[in-house]
Amino acid sequence: MKKIISTNPAKNYEVIGEVTVSNLNEIKKKVEGANNAKKLWKELGIEKRIALLTPLLDQIEERKEELAYLITKEMGKPINESRDDISWDLGYLKSFFKLGEEYLKDEITHSQGNSLHRIIFEPIGSAAVITPWNFPFDMFLWGVIPNLIAGNTVIFKHSEETPLIGKIAEDMMNKLHLPEGVFSEVYGDGNTGAQLVNQNVDFIWFTGSSTVGKKLFELAGKKFIKSTMELGGSNPAILCEDVDVQKTLGKIFIKRFLNCGQVCDAVKRLIVHESIFDEIVGELKKILESKIVGEPENEKTNIGSLVSKTQLLALEVQVEDAIKKGAKIVTGGKRPANLKGAYFLPTILTNVKPNMKVWHEEVFGPVLPIVSFKTDEEAIKLANDTEYGLGAVVCSKDVERAENIAKEIEAGNIDINNGNHWVACTPFGGYKNSGMGREHGRHGFQELCKIKVIAK
Ligand code: NAD
Repeated sequence: MKKIISTNPAKNYEVIGEVTVSNLNEIKKKVEGANNAKKLWKELGIEKRIALLTPLLDQIEERKEELAYLITKEMGKPINESRDDISWDLGYLKSFFKLGEEYLKDEITHSQGNSLHRIIFEPIGSAAVITPWNFPFDMFLWGVIPNLIAGNTVIFKHSEETPLIGKIAEDMMNKLHLPEGVFSEVYGDGNTGAQLVNQNVDFIWFTGSSTVGKKLFELAGKKFIKSTMELGGSNPAILCEDVDVQKTLGKIFIKRFLNCGQVCDAVKRLIVHESIFDEIVGELKKILESKIVGEPENEKTNIGSLVSKTQLLALEVQVEDAIKKGAKIVTGGKRPANLKGAYFLPTILTNVKPNMKVWHEEVFGPVLPIVSFKTDEEAIKLANDTEYGLGAVVCSKDVERAENIAKEIEAGNIDINNGNHWVACTPFGGYKNSGMGREHGRHGFQELCKIKVIAK
C-alpha cells in the first residue's frame, strides 16, 4: 500500500504521520456511492441537509486547539494564524448555514396575469472537490460544505501536503452520520486527483494552481460537465502619493506576508507612486526587520516556514532569477542562518523588470517586488501586466480616483483602502488565469446548482 508521509517543514521535515493512498478501486467505489446517494440527498431538501450538517460547528469548537496545532505542524504556519483560521472558518460556516437556504430560494422571473415563471436551483449531482494546502481546514470547508448544502454529493481529495488535516476532516464528517455515499474522501497526490476526475462525476470543484486548473477545465470540457475553478493570483497593490504610509504599510504587510506569503489573494506586486517610493521601501524594510521569523509554535513568531522544501526551492529559483537579471535585495533574499526547515527571510526586491519571474509568475512565499509609477495610466498598465486576475488593492485618500483605478483593473476582487472583501456573503473568484466561476455568497452558491425554469 502506498503512503503519503506528512512532515513538519518548520522542524527540519520531521515526520509527523502518514496516510494510505487510495487505490483506483476505492476511488471508483466512492464515486459510485456518491452517484447512488444523489437522489436521496437532493430529495431531503435544503433545510434537512443543513440540519444534518450543523453539528459540525460544535465539533470544530471542541477540537479547535487540536486543529490549530496540526495546521501549524503540517504547514509551519504561526500558531496564532492557525487559531485565526479556525475562528474564521467558524464564521464562514455559520454564514453558510444561515444564508444557504436564502441564496437558493426559488426566484420568480416573470409574472403577468396567469403566467408565472420560476427558477428552481437543483443540485448538479456528484462533485469531485479537490483543494490545496495553504488554508487546509478552510479549503476543506469551503469546497465541501456549500456543495453539500446545495444538494450535491461529494468525493473530496485534500492536498498531499496536509493529509492529516484531511484525516481530521473525514473523521468529523463521519461523526455527522450522513446517508451513505453523501460524503467520502480519497487520499493522494495529483495522480489520485486525476483518477478521481476521470470517473463518472457530474461536477469538478477545484481550488489550486492555474496550471492544474486549466487541465481540469479542459477535461470538464471534454466530458461536457460543469466546473468551478478557484486558481492562482499575482495581485497588485497600487499606492498613490497621498496615502498614510504607516497605516497603509500595516495592511500591505498582512496582505503580503500572512501565511509566509502563501495566499492566493496576497499582494504579490507593489506599485508605488514615485514621490513616495523611497519612503515606502525604507519603512517596509524597517517593519520586516522588526518581525520574528522562527518556530511557528512559539506565540511570539510572526513568520513561520513555508509548507515544504519544494515550495522553498521554487521560491529560491524565482529570487535567483531576479537577482541575475538585476534586481536589488533591500532586505532578506535568503534562508535565515539559524533555522532548519523551509524558512526564507521576508524579502523586498527593487529594480524589478517585467522579464523577471518574480513579476510575471505567481510568487508563493514572503517576497515582495516593488516598482514605481508616475501616472495612474502607468499604474493600471503595470497592475494588469499579468496573466492573473484574482484581486488587487488600491490606496488613495481620493476615493473617487481609487475607484476609477479599480474599475480599470482586470481582477475579481478589489479592495480600496481599508476595504476587505473577505466576508462569506461576498462572492470570490478571479478574472483571466485566476479562475472561472465564483464561490461564497449568492453567486457562489448558485454556481453549485443547475437552473431549472418552471413556467406556468
Ligand atoms: P496544485 O494545483 O498543485 O494542487 C491543488 C490540488 O490539486 C492538490 O490536492 C493536488 O493534489 C491536486 N492535483 C494536482 N494535480 C492534479 C491533477 N492533474 N488532477 C487532479 N488533481 C490534481 O496547487 P497547490 O500547490 O496545492 O496550491 C497552491 C495554489 O493554489 C496557488 O496557485 C494558489 O494561488 C492557489 N490557491 C487558490 C485559491 C483560490 O481560492 N483562488 C485558494 C488557495 C490556493
